[in-house]
Amino acid sequence: MLHLERARGLPLEEIVCRWADPEGRIARGAAPHFRFEDDPETPYVIGLRHVPSEAHPGTSRCEFLMETPPTPEAPLGEARCGVYENRPMACRIYPARFNSTSELTILSDVPRSGREHEHPAYQLCPRPWQPEDVDPLELPRTMAAAKFEREFFRSVARLWNDVPRAFADLPDFFRWVYDNRVWSEAPATTLPYPAAIRRAA
Ligand code: SF4
Repeated sequence: MLHLERARGLPLEEIVCRWADPEGRIARGAAPHFRFEDDPETPYVIGLRHVPSEAHPGTSRCEFLMETPPTPEAPLGEARCGVYENRPMACRIYPARFNSTSELTILSDVPRSGREHEHPAYQLCPRPWQPEDVDPLELPRTMAAAKFEREFFRSVARLWNDVPRAFADLPDFFRWVYDNRVWSEAPATTLPYPAAIRRAA
């Protein structure tokens, strides 16, 4: 998301939202939960904002999904990512995952629909992904980076959740954390990022 902010000049405040996830169905064990002072009992997932779809009234879409209206040739219309080069890691690696030893990249089966309700606008890939669809050199590298970044993001969430603040404070917190990931010398701790942030908080 910070890449999007930097590359597209879109402030985090305008592209990020929070979704209540009391049952963990959004995070699915992959994304960390954040807590906020206005609702400390509810775990939230942080994601890109969704907006109402104009092509499919009554549905919503990622703010960056570019849709065309349905036509006789394309009854569901067409859609593409409007920030493809800068899309988040989670979008880059979907639907891939590592096997248990992280030696192989597995293309998971994609569910028929991206939502629980069956509106055709939420249909996902019309056919299963095949190894020929991806770059076997690039995808595992991206997966490795995504795995590392996911663990780091969990640390960031733990740090935030130590002292939950308002959702409006989250963008500045993210900027502070990610702007301070590079040090000229290692701080005298095995967890330099959280320790450094705690000192500054
Ligand atoms: S690839 Fe990601 S950023 Fe792009 S439209 Fe889809 S969900 Fe949004």
